[in-house]
Amino acid sequence: MKPASDYFHQTYIEACNAFREATQANGGILSSYGNHPDQGMHGETLTTNVAYFGPKNPEKIFITTSGTHGVEGYYGSAAQINMIENQLKNLPDDVGVLVIHAINPYGFSHLRRVTGSKENVDLNRNFIFDQGEDSIIPLNLGYKHVAKYLVPEKWAKNDSIRQEADQQLAAYKNTFGAQAYLSAIYKGQYQFPDGINYGGQEPTWSNKTFYQILQDCVPASVNEVAYIDLHTGWDEYGLVAIYTLMEAIHENHLRAKAWYEKTADKIMSSPFPVVGSIANATNEYFSERNVKVTTTAIEVGTVKSPGTTLTALRGDHCLYRYGNGDIHSLEGKAIKEKMREDYCPSDPEWREQVLQKSANIIGATINQLKLTAENKLEVGVGVELRKRKNN
Ligand SMILES: [Zn+2]
Repeated sequence: MKPASDYFHQTYIEACNAFREATQANGGILSSYGNHPDQGMHGETLTTNVAYFGPKNPEKIFITTSGTHGVEGYYGSAAQINMIENQLKNLPDDVGVLVIHAINPYGFSHLRRVTGSKENVDLNRNFIFDQGEDSIIPLNLGYKHVAKYLVPEKWAKNDSIRQEADQQLAAYKNTFGAQAYLSAIYKGQYQFPDGINYGGQEPTWSNKTFYQILQDCVPASVNEVAYIDLHTGWDEYGLVAIYTLMEAIHENHLRAKAWYEKTADKIMSSPFPVVGSIANATNEYFSERNVKVTTTAIEVGTVKSPGTTLTALRGDHCLYRYGNGDIHSLEGKAIKEKMREDYCPSDPEWREQVLQKSANIIGATINQLKLTAENKLEVGVGVELRKRKNN
């Protein structure tokens, strides 16, 4: 097995090439989704690559996405390529694996969380637009109080505008508490198109591409789906947690708890109500088709406590809103380096640790699908099934 550091790449282009090569070398079927309205950081074409492994008509499928939050894809890509090279050799007969690489290729390439140079959308808040149906746009009342201070006109630390902005944010946190502060910023907002965690006004390229991939690549034979969306930047350094974004009593959350209690460092329901996530969209998509579905996100910790990556994120937004996105300026370079380091630390120990823990969670997922395919007892609901059979 290669050292962990070999799975982490420095650019979107390198990560894409490694993903394609690993897919071909390990017998996967590769497809690509292009026509992205933007270009990459080095002028490259942006595509989402998809790999499928397993039988033509599986009963169960494991789906994973990387780069929903662009820059977080440097870790997600590493976890996916590691899985392709080391974990798919002896797939059970009834289980397929669909690997979606860089679902937000713009953010991945430009070391950003958002989906496009003009869109400025947090893809994980963009799935409120049901295909064709009228959507209710949620209101985030807290955001408007912090909007101006999150993305100040000047980012230099010693500039009075930046200092005033930082003070105002700290004051908001003091007055309303850490939970309300994080919720105002992170639960998503639809009123400030230039702001942070903006959910957009319509489905983005990445949103539409995701649905297209599900339509094209999930065989009609599938009766059960496990889905993991790969993220970084929220939790404590080196921690690999499972987040369901569901209420703690939701059956999806309870199933995830049973599946991952031995492999995840912790299993969390939603820290605050989040709408428009890709995991919830996946849940709805398959539930509507009467397919059993368990959706989760892996959150890999890179920071001291939730919200610490906010500084990097604010700097990045300032750079594109007020600094023409000039990544070659001194300030621009520093902002990009901070984005990379805060969302995918270069520390080799961190990389090895999180790759191993992620592989354990992925292994548990495939094993769980195998168990249910073989009609063996499912953890958690097994006792109930047995009882029913005996009656
Ligand atoms: Zn994320």
